[in-house]
Amino acid sequence: MMNDMKQIKHHLTEPLLIGYAAGTLPEAFNLVVATHISMCDTCRAALAEYEAVGGEVMLDADPVDVAEDALAATLAMIDGGHLAERPKPIRTQNSVFPGPLQDYISGDFDSLKWRKVGGGVSQLVLNTSKDASVRLLRIPAGTAVPDHGHQGTELTLVLQGAFTDEEDRFGAGDVEVANEDLHHTPVAEEGVDCICLAATDAPLLFNGIVPRIAQKFIGI
Ligand SMILES: [Zn+2]
Repeated sequence: MMNDMKQIKHHLTEPLLIGYAAGTLPEAFNLVVATHISMCDTCRAALAEYEAVGGEVMLDADPVDVAEDALAATLAMIDGGHLAERPKPIRTQNSVFPGPLQDYISGDFDSLKWRKVGGGVSQLVLNTSKDASVRLLRIPAGTAVPDHGHQGTELTLVLQGAFTDEEDRFGAGDVEVANEDLHHTPVAEEGVDCICLAATDAPLLFNGIVPRIAQKFIGI
């Protein structure tokens, strides 16, 4: 993992970091941003600066009075509650899934319910709010994902292995931010299967007729 961190070349964009700091991104995008930040010192430092800006804005804001008994009522609720024991997350050693992602995945890698989506590619859709979707993609080593375009924004974070498309090579920790202008055919590198976390806020546009039909069923 240390080696992977040093090799990260493709980072989050400024609007994504600002959106994450401001809390305005869909949950699906938040998950990709949080997962990249857990792998990337550069973006974690950049995020801290945007969050500091938010802190300054809050300090400068004019206070608004709350109900007179708000403090007493809150303290009473704290006194009346009991300390909940936080359930221990199931963490497997050498997991390809960083911390933020593990909250969305139950069980370890071998027990995941992958669904085949054609061409050897499998996916696992994660449960988030409806305004965007996020899934794990497993692309067998040496395999191509069908050529496709994008209606909205697609974020693809590599967790294991690497893929190459018309833009560049993306290795573990790298994130590709694709939009309407990008039509690409990602190909997984030889070696290990490429596992990605991919979020979209609109359906992808596949160029071939077969993928377009398949899209109806897989819901990418
Ligand atoms: Zn980064």
